[in-house]
Amino acid sequence: MKFQTITGTKDILPSESPLWQHVEKTARSVFERFGYREIRTPIFEDTNLFLRGIGETTDIVGKEMYTFKPSPESDESLTLRPEMTASVMRAYLQHSLGAQSPVVKVYYISELFRKERPQKGRYRQFWQFGAECIGSSLPEADAEVIAMMMMIYDELGIKNTMLKLNSLGDIETRKRYRAILQDYLRPHFDKLDSVSKERFEKNPLRILDSKNPDLKELIENAPRILDHLDETSQAHFETVKSYLDEFGVKYVIDHRLVRGLDYYTRTAFELVSADLGAQDALGGGGRYDGLAEQLGAEKEISAVGFASGVERLLIAMQSANLIANIQPKKPDVMLVSQSPAARGWIMKVANEWRKAGLAVETDLLARSLKAQLREANRLGATYAVIVGEYELQTGKFQLKNLLTSEQKEIQQENLLNEIRKQNRSIVLTKN
Ligand code: AMP
Repeated sequence: MKFQTITGTKDILPSESPLWQHVEKTARSVFERFGYREIRTPIFEDTNLFLRGIGETTDIVGKEMYTFKPSPESDESLTLRPEMTASVMRAYLQHSLGAQSPVVKVYYISELFRKERPQKGRYRQFWQFGAECIGSSLPEADAEVIAMMMMIYDELGIKNTMLKLNSLGDIETRKRYRAILQDYLRPHFDKLDSVSKERFEKNPLRILDSKNPDLKELIENAPRILDHLDETSQAHFETVKSYLDEFGVKYVIDHRLVRGLDYYTRTAFELVSADLGAQDALGGGGRYDGLAEQLGAEKEISAVGFASGVERLLIAMQSANLIANIQPKKPDVMLVSQSPAARGWIMKVANEWRKAGLAVETDLLARSLKAQLREANRLGATYAVIVGEYELQTGKFQLKNLLTSEQKEIQQENLLNEIRKQNRSIVLTKN
């Protein structure tokens, strides 16, 4: 029997991991410059956390969660996390993080699980990096979160994107707008598709999300939430936009960008890429001042955040030819053995040099001299040192630079320093 990965999941192979590490390193570096600290939460949680924290009318909760019982007789229901915001807010409340710091800024790089029909850019297990800023209601927090997300894409070289922006107002705005939208749609009810009909009562704002081309005109002409904002939300939105202008972050207003849930407030945004196919959203986020109360907090806790898909980012990087230069770390030196005695010496020296910070390769197959040198070239090693009886007896070694083909005779005690001298990227350790 041959085992294979499950549909919708994938291996990240050693040939791909340098790219993942590059993305993660860039994201971490930007997050830390903004003062965000990493949070890691368990992969599974109480199912109710997601029912309350994402909302029962969403596709995620409706049909995409991997839910299971810890044992057949248990009353408990557990779910593999389909997103991170609810888990982060749960951790914030559980550990009273707000008591330690009035504004809590955290980031994550996590794998998530959704029972979706897999296609390019859509998987059942996928990765997101994202951040949550909890405790500030000011528009500065929204602007900073958006700028941070955009800086990560910028530093990865991603272009060809469009940032969509909208405001959903406060909870009262949305209640009012919901009625206005229903009044507008009611005379056209028969024209709606079955999904939209179902959303009409439960969650009419999400009808604006519909990708059905038959509804395009109807949705285009719908009343816009921005025309119905309360005064405070209006001012908040203006300030967010003016900061983005100041940062040089370009955006378009998209009145269709709505989040159908009550605890989303004010700013909503999404970044789409022209280098992706049907699944063109790279990431998105917004303000969710009502979530904490939804999860049992006694008062409203302001928060804003974003989440970005890593697989889609990599697809976009690939189509923009941004990954050619990202290489795995290459060995500094390969120690090549010509005899069993040399192998013993190499084992000991390789271990010492690795401790001293060098990337050292050795032969683990007792191959011929020629085959070992071929391997050193294949791995892209900078140097090779050939070790035989003569070298061990005299303490004189030939240091061969495989990139320039230069060769120098070096005394044993100077070898390590000579290799280090040539390689400025090596951080010197205590040796
Ligand atoms: P969401 O949490 O649905 O707002 O998604 C945020 C981002 O995560 C999206 O813009 C995508 O880049 C990514 N994403 C969401 N669902 C998937 C999936 N099933 N497979 C791969 N990436 C996904």
